[in-house]
Amino acid sequence: MIKVKKRKLLLLPGDGIGPEVIAEVRKIIEWLNKNKSLDFEIEEALVGGSSYEKHKTPITDEVFYQALESEAVILGAVGGPQWDNLEFSKRPERALLKLRKELKLFANLRPAICFKQLVDASSLKPEIISGLDIMIVRELTGGIYFGEPRGISPIENGERKGINTHTYTTSEIHRVARVAFELAKKRKNQVTSCEKSNVMEAGLLWKEEVQALRDKEFKNVELKHMLADNCAMQLLRNPKQFDVIVTDNLFGDILSDEAAMLTGSLGLLPSASLGAKDKNGKMRSMYEPIHGSAPDIAGKNIANPIASILSLSMALRYSLDLDAEANLLDAAVQQVLDDGLRTKDIMSAGKKEVGTSVMGDAIISKLK
Ligand code: NAD
Repeated sequence: MIKVKKRKLLLLPGDGIGPEVIAEVRKIIEWLNKNKSLDFEIEEALVGGSSYEKHKTPITDEVFYQALESEAVILGAVGGPQWDNLEFSKRPERALLKLRKELKLFANLRPAICFKQLVDASSLKPEIISGLDIMIVRELTGGIYFGEPRGISPIENGERKGINTHTYTTSEIHRVARVAFELAKKRKNQVTSCEKSNVMEAGLLWKEEVQALRDKEFKNVELKHMLADNCAMQLLRNPKQFDVIVTDNLFGDILSDEAAMLTGSLGLLPSASLGAKDKNGKMRSMYEPIHGSAPDIAGKNIANPIASILSLSMALRYSLDLDAEANLLDAAVQQVLDDGLRTKDIMSAGKKEVGTSVMGDAIISKLK
């Protein structure tokens, strides 16, 4: 078998159920290495609370440089109650924020897909969500979460004032909108851009700049503008009207959680965070399930590994140009669900309950 060049993947299992679900991802990468003409070099390192326990920091410089050197980072989850009272700079989440910031991961992609086999897990009526396939693109490094000035300061009469600043520049808007338009071209060719242009100047700029980019570079992609509050409502009323939604950091935070929950299955949803391409065309990226470290079920081999496995599929598709392998993996997940295998979180009457590692093995058996 002819082997192609080695491609570095960094696995950061993290805390709680992170190591359990990332172990299944590792098995799949090893299967791809063995059975396809691929040669992934897998590195694994500590992050979050587990890194703090060993190194007294949630991410060491060495691990950070490993992340910079790899073609994609796949992270499990970080955090847990035992680290909740650490000082801010030592807390597990600092590792995530550092990676996002230093790798300049400005676009967060969150698919909200309703698996036909799990249509009953949603709180919405089956006809509203069956077949749902939305991609939310959230700007991740700008806007009100980072804008200056910010802070809390005393004012007259013994009162205090809190300030955050919502700010975007043309280039910040264009780079994330470009990601959304490129994605739409591979999907249903439709982008909905959400802001509050009716009450915020930065929202008006967002709307105008997204439109300008579309008119200049993406004439064949359909673009709609929608106020963010209306989008929140439409996601519940008729979510299938959307293909790709692009929005800022604040609205994206809320709308992507809302969209994810439409499908009612935390253990199934992956995410990708993408950065800019460097001069060699290499893009930094990090992939992770949207769920946390689930300390309540950690160590019991009952966590659902599918969100992490689909995060690997996103890495294959968006960072590694391996669409065929990504499709294969997505199809394997579907087939296992078709066969009625379920982890505890998505279990329903008449289905077969399996643990984390059996679910991973079953998905691998379908790859064959
Ligand atoms: P959580 O997502 O960890 O868990 C919420 C609920 O969903 C729990 O009942 C859990 O058992 C269940 N659940 C989550 N993932 C599951 C899976 N794969 N399979 C089966 N069930 C699953 O959220 P939380 O309880 O609010 O947070 C727990 C810890 O995770 C906290 O320390 C939090 O800070 C951290 N957290 C980390 C991330 C991240 O690393 N990106 C994200 C969210 C929360």
